[in-house]
Amino acid sequence: MMKLDIQMFAVPFRKVSKTRKRMRRSHNAMEVPGLTKCPNCGEIIKPHRVCKKCGSYKGKTVVSKKEN
Ligand SMILES: [Zn+2]
Repeated sequence: MMKLDIQMFAVPFRKVSKTRKRMRRSHNAMEVPGLTKCPNCGEIIKPHRVCKKCGSYKGKTVVSKKEN
């Protein structure tokens, strides 16, 4: 079985194999935030949230905004 003990103290970098280093860093990447387009106005919005621009959610106007 593979050894999976966690290093709890400073370890010389040459003692950590490329594979082990890469395995550790496999979770370090930045996550891309989920973004979708508003079906009403086409504005880029976060999913499951009311559109800031037109105030619509699921095709219905939830928050009414004053029109110019
Ligand atoms: Zn919208």
